[in-house]
Amino acid sequence: MKERALKYVDENPLGDRTIEMNKEHYIKKIERGDYFHFCKECGAIEFAGYVNEKDLIDKQQCFNCNLWIKRSGEIKDNTLIVMRNGKMDFLSDGGAQPPGTGGLGFGGAKWKYYKLGETENIIETNNMWHGGDIPEHLHSLFTINAVIEV
Ligand SMILES: [Zn+2]
Repeated sequence: MKERALKYVDENPLGDRTIEMNKEHYIKKIERGDYFHFCKECGAIEFAGYVNEKDLIDKQQCFNCNLWIKRSGEIKDNTLIVMRNGKMDFLSDGGAQPPGTGGLGFGGAKWKYYKLGETENIIETNNMWHGGDIPEHLHSLFTINAVIEV
């Protein structure tokens, strides 16, 4: 297991920037016997040093997979799952606000979208929030439910 972990950190097969930037730190952790596991979803090494470490260890997931699997069960009415620039995006419409309101998503940029099956109901908002790109290997947990109008 230790050899596999050292090889993983050295080769960094998933191109993880955190590992790339802190290789020696992770090698030290492995050498001194710190806890780690390999994510059963994506194969990434996980040292489980976060507040949710028990959950990561129990489920043998990495932080990223754990987050997205959780999010797949938290789709709300204002959650938009869309394809954008070739990626599956997780967006939330915080609800249109009067112009000039501070603290809006995407700096108050205007968005138009419709929910699938409701093409004639174009919704405009100036308060869209980006939850992130859904990792490709977890796309099957999400259903595209909206289309962004440009
Ligand atoms: Zn993972």
